[in-house]
Amino acid sequence: MAVNNVKGTRDIIGEEANAFNYIENLLKQICELFAYNEVRPPVMEYSELFVRGVGESSDVVRKEMYTFLDKGERSITLRPEFTAGIMRLIIQNKLLNTNELPFKAYYVGPVFRYERPQLGRYRQFTQFGVEAVGNNSPEIDVETIVLAYTILNSLNLENVSIKINTLGDDESRENYKKALKQYFEKYLDQMCPDCHSRYELNPLRILDCKVPEDQKIVEGAPKMKDFLSENAKNRFNKVLSLLDDLSIPYVVDDTLVRGLDYYSETVYEFHYTSKNGTNYGAIGAGGHYDKLVAELGGPNAAGVGFSFGVDRLYSVLRDDDLLETGLDNPVEIYVMPMGELAKPLALQVAAELRVSGYRTDMCFEDVKLGNMFKRAERKGASFAIIIGENEVNNQEVIIKNMETTVQVNCPLEKLIETISKEMGDECCGDGCQCHCKEN
Ligand code: AMP
Repeated sequence: MAVNNVKGTRDIIGEEANAFNYIENLLKQICELFAYNEVRPPVMEYSELFVRGVGESSDVVRKEMYTFLDKGERSITLRPEFTAGIMRLIIQNKLLNTNELPFKAYYVGPVFRYERPQLGRYRQFTQFGVEAVGNNSPEIDVETIVLAYTILNSLNLENVSIKINTLGDDESRENYKKALKQYFEKYLDQMCPDCHSRYELNPLRILDCKVPEDQKIVEGAPKMKDFLSENAKNRFNKVLSLLDDLSIPYVVDDTLVRGLDYYSETVYEFHYTSKNGTNYGAIGAGGHYDKLVAELGGPNAAGVGFSFGVDRLYSVLRDDDLLETGLDNPVEIYVMPMGELAKPLALQVAAELRVSGYRTDMCFEDVKLGNMFKRAERKGASFAIIIGENEVNNQEVIIKNMETTVQVNCPLEKLIETISKEMGDECCGDGCQCHCKEN
């Protein structure tokens, strides 16, 4: 029996793979415009990093990590998110020992969470995000929101709603947690077992509970906004007024708390409902953190970052027809050797065309000429190059324009020149970078 993929994972093939590349390249370009540079932390880290970083009360750490002992009996975890790993990378490589703060980085790669697979929710998925570390200002929070907003606009995702909230400073959160404990105490015996441990570890997490009966109880819970210190209120108002100045639309959502423990002050999420009404939940989310770097053994430094789910971005773009069709790379030239004798020359011709920048494929199977032409058509080739025994003997090829069906014989040494002319690639003279540069 054949072996299938692991539950909750998926194969990304053909046009979908091209679409992922398109999305990731666009995101990279925009991050670079905002002066963020790429970092590539490893996929696996010591489990302790996530327990300390993401937090013991988060669902991610409590239930969703892929953790195993390696052969040296060390507990290793496949990253369930990037932020903790990037903080480790920053601390270990002493990247905050500079006057050039904040340290601004972007990342892309797979993350792993043992969640129940469903629409838009996988056990391996791709995240793309940024972190800006070493600056505590409302302006840097806003820069990350502007960056995310620019990304969504560049993808033509216009119906995005930005939800924003503040979790306040330590003082605000401590008072709020006390109030939540008092409130939930009365209802605890009606709530799910998870909420019992959330109550003990971090009552904020109860606000995220997805059990419908618990959500009703959550509706009546005290609101963060009533427990904000003056400082926290001022900081949040500053963030909102900066967003107003930049005409970035947002909705303040005082139920937004985020599922990872390290957040404080500003938190935000990007929501999108496809035109067909499918709601994939948050396509991206992020926020500010004060204690994470210190918690992981680094200096006292605040940071802010967000993460997009590339799989979800792909789904909404596909649903709303926002991906250019034909993203599957068509070949420009299809080389067709007729018989064994022609194959070495076909390989040589294909190599020469590729070096000159023409996307070229060749037929590796012994099929009839008609069948080869059908393959050339399916691949979208503009030209077919036919090589038979005669052509090998005469050191030439036949070039056929697939659109006009006109074919010409061409000596090997004139191949690139002829193809460039046929393709309409004009030589612009000295130092030009066009295909015919060698002629
Ligand atoms: P988080 O790290 O939980 O804040 O998630 C950031 C983004 O990652 C979310 O907004 C989603 O777009 C995406 N995401 C989170 N979990 C999953 C999942 N299980 N499958 C696919 N995408 C996910």
